[in-house]
Amino acid sequence: MGSADVAGVLVDTRHWIGGKRVGSAATFADISPVDQTELAAVSAGTAAEVDEAVQAAADSFPSWSRTAPAERAAVLRAVADGIEDRSAELAVVETMDNGALLRSHRRSVMPRVAQNFRFFADWLDQLAAPPLEIREHREQVSWCPAGVTAVITPWNAPLMLATWRIAPALAAGNTVVAKPPELAPLTASLLADICAGAGLPDGVFNVVQGTGQSAGAPLVAHPEVARVAFTGSVTSGQAVAAAAGRQLTPVSLELGGKSPLIVFEDADLELAAANAAGQFDNAGQVCLAGSRLLVASQVAEEFTARLLGKIAAVRQGDPRDDSTDVGPNISRAHLERIDGFVRRAVSGGARVLAGGGVRPGGGLYYQPTLLDQVRPDAEIVTEEVFGPVLTLQTFGAEQEAVALANSTRYGLAAMVFTGSQQRAARVQADLVAGTVWVNCFFVRDLRAPFGGARQSGIGREGGTWSFDFYCDVKNTVYAPRGWRADG
Ligand code: NAD
Repeated sequence: MGSADVAGVLVDTRHWIGGKRVGSAATFADISPVDQTELAAVSAGTAAEVDEAVQAAADSFPSWSRTAPAERAAVLRAVADGIEDRSAELAVVETMDNGALLRSHRRSVMPRVAQNFRFFADWLDQLAAPPLEIREHREQVSWCPAGVTAVITPWNAPLMLATWRIAPALAAGNTVVAKPPELAPLTASLLADICAGAGLPDGVFNVVQGTGQSAGAPLVAHPEVARVAFTGSVTSGQAVAAAAGRQLTPVSLELGGKSPLIVFEDADLELAAANAAGQFDNAGQVCLAGSRLLVASQVAEEFTARLLGKIAAVRQGDPRDDSTDVGPNISRAHLERIDGFVRRAVSGGARVLAGGGVRPGGGLYYQPTLLDQVRPDAEIVTEEVFGPVLTLQTFGAEQEAVALANSTRYGLAAMVFTGSQQRAARVQADLVAGTVWVNCFFVRDLRAPFGGARQSGIGREGGTWSFDFYCDVKNTVYAPRGWRADG
């Protein structure tokens, strides 16, 4: 009890509170989407464990927040080293837990997890605003650590999404209570071991496992929590914002999306089709996924033919196999939810060009699916499916493309494929989105702002934007007179 062997890696399945492992009376079963076996019985946290963790974080805040920034940065770099040392283990545990490709976890995700710590450690060293001089007075901006930070994250990229908030919060001098996703809770526990090994003082980073209702909700509502960094669905984000709003706790919300991928008639169609097929990555369980293909009618036939060729070549299977392109979806319930969307779309008149159902032969695999003849107001076009399902709509004029692109309640990202720089400049200006990618997808520097417009979120993080959220930004005004010499 209290630990599980996951593909040869020993993972503690209890909470991590104040530098100690703490169990709960009850556990929940963590099921692997890879083979649907039970990976672990994980402690099911409640308000009591949340309170213990928040107290531990509050107790360690005075000392951590006053630790010199260079010293904090050194500990965070040691955490990055620890992640790099254990990256093969983190990769395999994450794959068993959430079903995403092992090769992606090894090659890109875990290096980025380490980079999250290294980047914010480096940025902290440079965080400065030049003093402002006004009528002989001097104004100086400083970033003051805010306090205990709650970090709540989803299962589709658990450690990446968690560390992208945990690292800047810790760098800023805050202490953290993380509530990992109940569908993929294990790598957060390994991160706790790594943080302890790197010399992060007890209580600075804490993990409480459990469901959104039993552990997440009391964490958000806790009066000692100074910031809530939440990543998840719009519905949960609304509940989190409402609960935080009752005590005016600042929230940073990174929520769902229904991003358009626009293909103009002057685009490199091969590039556009390759990027469209790339939207099946992580079995379509990517918040940024360009799941709405908007294609200029002149090139729709050729684009569709190229895309169908690429879909036919997609290799679906075990995510541990290096030759696999698309792995399983997260759970049986989610697979059925995806299928429900597709069935309702088809009964509403959509045509299936590829896929269209659960892959025969067992497992949690949904066939990469392409639908056209969808109404602009159909649920399949307006709601996030979070599965390997793309819709294709055609347009005539440029402004029609922009109108279709902006026609949902979301505004996370948009992709534009065009051969014209002038068109790219015009269209990106009119799109409602936190990130616009032109002739590319998924490239993002940690210095850049990230977040969503409309219901895709509130706030921006990345670079200084992260510190603006995790800190109370203060302006101190010094008068030119009234000083005694004090050495
Ligand atoms: P979810 O909202 O069901 O759960 C996310 C997390 O919130 C989980 O840890 C869950 O336990 C917790 N939670 C749920 N209700 C809560 C409540 N009332 N109070 C506190 N915590 C609560 O989302 P999910 O199904 O795990 O993840 C998929 C969603 O996340 C999709 O909508 C996807 O687009 C979104 N997402 C967004 C981003 C982004 O950066 N914008 C990144 C990844 C995923």
